[in-house]
Amino acid sequence: MNDVIKIKLDEIKMLVTEVLQKQGCDLHNAKALAKTITKAEEDGASSHGLFRVPGYVASLKSGKVNGKASPKVKNVTPVILQCDADNGFASTAHEKALPMLAEAAKTNGISVLSIKGCYHFAALWPETEYLAQQNLVGVACTAFKPSVAPAGAKEAFFGTNPISMAWPRKNNFPVVFDMATATMAKGEVMIAARDGHMLPDGVGLGENGEPSNDPKEVLKGVLLPFGGYKGSAISMMVELFAAGLTGDVFSYEAQENDNNDGGPPSGGEFIMALNPEIIGDSSWEKHCEDFFQKLLSIDGVRLPGSRRHKKRSNDEYRSVNAELLSKVKSFL
Ligand code: NDP
Repeated sequence: MNDVIKIKLDEIKMLVTEVLQKQGCDLHNAKALAKTITKAEEDGASSHGLFRVPGYVASLKSGKVNGKASPKVKNVTPVILQCDADNGFASTAHEKALPMLAEAAKTNGISVLSIKGCYHFAALWPETEYLAQQNLVGVACTAFKPSVAPAGAKEAFFGTNPISMAWPRKNNFPVVFDMATATMAKGEVMIAARDGHMLPDGVGLGENGEPSNDPKEVLKGVLLPFGGYKGSAISMMVELFAAGLTGDVFSYEAQENDNNDGGPPSGGEFIMALNPEIIGDSSWEKHCEDFFQKLLSIDGVRLPGSRRHKKRSNDEYRSVNAELLSKVKSFL
């Protein structure tokens, strides 16, 4: 069913907050996650908005996620922060740790945050854009459960392993890329399956190990990394940053620990903030703006993030899948 319903962003936030409270979150945790979900709907990133609510609810119902998490952050050094997410959703850890990460980078030029024991099921740009809004460069990545075949393989080993970078711009939205290192995020493949769309070439292999454009087949098989062995190397780097550096689990370990309730697995997240005011010279802002303008002057080019930012208009209504909305309401 592809019918859509128009709903106000404020209503989405209230609905999700209520659903999460009903399903075991306290108000603080529910509000933090509802904000993340609403931001995704606001930017037209529907694969990480309401679409994720059934998974979040499943992970609360199974008792996997602590809906009353109270993350703790410690400074290992003035620039290295470690956050114990208390088995909660990543959004709650972000609320606590990102302001501290930003302050450390503003003072020292660079700072790194490793989050352990969180459940990340969302886009990464909320955290990198938060840093860019404070005139910092933000970089974030997290692993998942095996769903992507490393270059040369037909079986899943890497997670979809997203990575995001946000670059601050004066009086403008930051330049932000946020991408799965799979050719396509799994949520997008699930939405294609739901809506009956075929996939472009190269997204994945079916159960039989052969290339397939059918999202239902690919969901039974494996996704492929973007850009062949080059994307495979970046996906490996994400595993190393999000698990090797944070001390949390690699995707294959996340799979071993997970109860497969349909929600996200427990894992780590690596976030870095860089302060160009300290690292660069006084002309960095103009220098980079000239670069962006030069880039944009090339026919056919747009900046990553601009599609989302255009959706972030004054219109307070969003169109959402009707069946999904009624499913979310059924959790009340
Ligand atoms: P897309 O392939 O849709 O987009 C990737 C990036 O490329 C975006 O920043 C996008 O900007 C940019 N882009 C797309 N087209 C162009 C273009 N023509 N010119 C310039 N830039 C362009 O994203 P994915 O499907 O790979 O990932 C979707 C989301 O899934 C991400 O937010 C990711 O964090 C999330 N994810 C989360 C996981 C988790 O475990 N939490 C796992 C995997 C993915 P724009 O947005 O403006 O289009």
